[in-house]
Amino acid sequence: MGVLAVYGVPDAAARIYYGLHNLQHRGQEGGGIATFDENGQYYRYRGLGLLSEIFTNGEVTHLLGNLGIGSVKYANASKGGLDNVEPLFFHHRSGDFAVAADGNVVNARQISDYLEKRGTIFQTGTHSELLAHLIKKTAGEDRIVNIVKALNMMEGGFAFVIMTPSRIYACRDKHGIKPLCIGKLGDGYVVSSESCAFEIMGATFLRDVKPGEIVSLDNKGLRSTLYSRFSRHQMCAMEYIYFARPDSDIDGCNVHAYRKEAGRRLAKECPAEADIVVGVPESSLSAAMGYAEQSGLPYEMGLVKHKYVGRTFIQPVQSMRELGVKMKLSPVHSIVNGKRIVLVDDSIVRGTTSLKIVKMLREAGATEVHVRIASPMMRFTCHYGVDTSTPEELLCSHRTLEEACKVIGADSLGYLSPESTRDSCFGCADPCQACFTGKYPTLLYDDINSED
Ligand code: SF4
Repeated sequence: MGVLAVYGVPDAAARIYYGLHNLQHRGQEGGGIATFDENGQYYRYRGLGLLSEIFTNGEVTHLLGNLGIGSVKYANASKGGLDNVEPLFFHHRSGDFAVAADGNVVNARQISDYLEKRGTIFQTGTHSELLAHLIKKTAGEDRIVNIVKALNMMEGGFAFVIMTPSRIYACRDKHGIKPLCIGKLGDGYVVSSESCAFEIMGATFLRDVKPGEIVSLDNKGLRSTLYSRFSRHQMCAMEYIYFARPDSDIDGCNVHAYRKEAGRRLAKECPAEADIVVGVPESSLSAAMGYAEQSGLPYEMGLVKHKYVGRTFIQPVQSMRELGVKMKLSPVHSIVNGKRIVLVDDSIVRGTTSLKIVKMLREAGATEVHVRIASPMMRFTCHYGVDTSTPEELLCSHRTLEEACKVIGADSLGYLSPESTRDSCFGCADPCQACFTGKYPTLLYDDINSED
């Protein structure tokens, strides 16, 4: 998911709309924008699908005000539907507010049990609604005190943006698993999941929201509150590897630079006798460039991506994924014919895409296909909001390297080590790699029953 917020900028909704387009890669199944005008009047428009399918009739121009929040989301099968598309809006006698979120609260079941036992009825399956109810249930005079208390009840990897009629709050989990950054736009501010949204909005990057920080934006400017004394920098490694756009900087590290360095290290760790290096468009191209640079092999465009087809990884149903693979890539016959190819990809989740690409390259005339993956073997489920499938579905959860190689039909298969995955990262000393190593930065609360 991707979130955006704007404070103190005329026509905030239009800025958010453009910014959300640059976050569309983070979710393609729904999106929305909410604003308050200077009289405290609330506006919201949201829908299912791509932003271009949701905002079709100038709806953005009806969302008035100089502050607003927005969201794009992808849904796993249990959390689809318009009800779960954010921002969500809440009425309360202490003041109306809206919330949008990225990520996952791992103790959500315990919190919802706690709230339901105290009379709360939920309308959605979102963690934004959990936060809203906690804000209202916790005691405290000031809103910031309520937010601090609510966040301290939550564990996981998350980023929330909260909007009141006069203020934006931007909150990042204390482990620093999810990205969130602040930009300056005229006299106002912008908050975004990724800095790649700033360019199109006319904003300039200011800084990342710190792990465990709540940034308040209002007529007093920017203020910072830490909701927890505990704080770690354990940014999700998959943001660098796959999710984020290459033009984003996250926690001091540019995503393209990370991928290129990972590709260089991959070439050192897993060399191959081959004629050309081909990257799987688009998130693997930077790593393929790094591999080619380090290995001295020519980098070639052996695969072309069809535009306007959704990312296979973030579509929730397997049948849609498989159809998506066929629709989205084509081999360039004249380049791959008769060649021994190093095929660089960012990651392998289920292996179905890799199998089809290897087959596609062989059918186009490649004599050998050596698959090199710019991340470690994915063996474990993500609990922080990235839909990496169940362990049973993951190619490598129960297979050796040789078995995995056989399944995808490659001549050889090599993965980057967890050490190089960490060391390719210039800003984050110890990124979360739990889907590779099984070492989760938080408790998972799987076996913990809620108590009164
Ligand atoms: S488990 Fe994997 S996908 Fe999930 S936050 Fe950690 S690195 Fe990212």
